[in-house]
Amino acid sequence: MKSIHDAVDHKLFSEEDIDEMTTRLGKQLTKDYAGKRVLVVGALKGAIFFMVDLLKKMDLPCDIDFIDVSSYGNGTESSGKITVTHDLEADVTGRDVLIVEDIVDTGLTLKFMKDEMIKRGAKSVKCCVLLNKTARRTTEVEVEYYGTHVGNEFVIGYGMDFAGLYRNLPYVGVIKPQVVEEFSKKHENDN
Ligand code: 5GP
Repeated sequence: MKSIHDAVDHKLFSEEDIDEMTTRLGKQLTKDYAGKRVLVVGALKGAIFFMVDLLKKMDLPCDIDFIDVSSYGNGTESSGKITVTHDLEADVTGRDVLIVEDIVDTGLTLKFMKDEMIKRGAKSVKCCVLLNKTARRTTEVEVEYYGTHVGNEFVIGYGMDFAGLYRNLPYVGVIKPQVVEEFSKKHENDN
């Protein structure tokens, strides 16, 4: 049996690094949202690991909900087209909404979600993302809280996938180029 760890070229952020980030962000959010009841919206599926750890570090009354918007196909490049594939249960009217996202790349997904919450009548909309990939930003969108910057590499683990896999790696790593090449070869005749 091949290990999922074999798909990782090198580790970028260890479990300890991630714990430091969630602790720092949780403390900051606890301070900034003091006295408020927050609606924490997790972006499925990538944000779930981060969202759970972050929530445990937030000493605030929180409601939680999930949204799934898809802009990525099975590969590593954004398609640019965004649709809601799983909607919130909550009514966001008059709520302080905090969107939790794994990684911001072009910014299109985050901008779409933020605009959507505002359109639906949220009182405030901010976001907290684990990784801020600024190099490929094509949309102006404010990232109020983030764990750390990341370069222009395709990362996997801690919620983030490649073709649906590797989300359950407990750390964040860079995918081996061979894994992407093998996948592309296998699927080159799909379209
Ligand atoms: P954006 O709309 O900002 O271009 O893309 C945001 C989404 O693309 C993220 O929520 C994430 O699902 C995906 N994404 C962007 N960069 C990466 C990456 O390096 N690794 C993985 N696994 N997903 C990424």
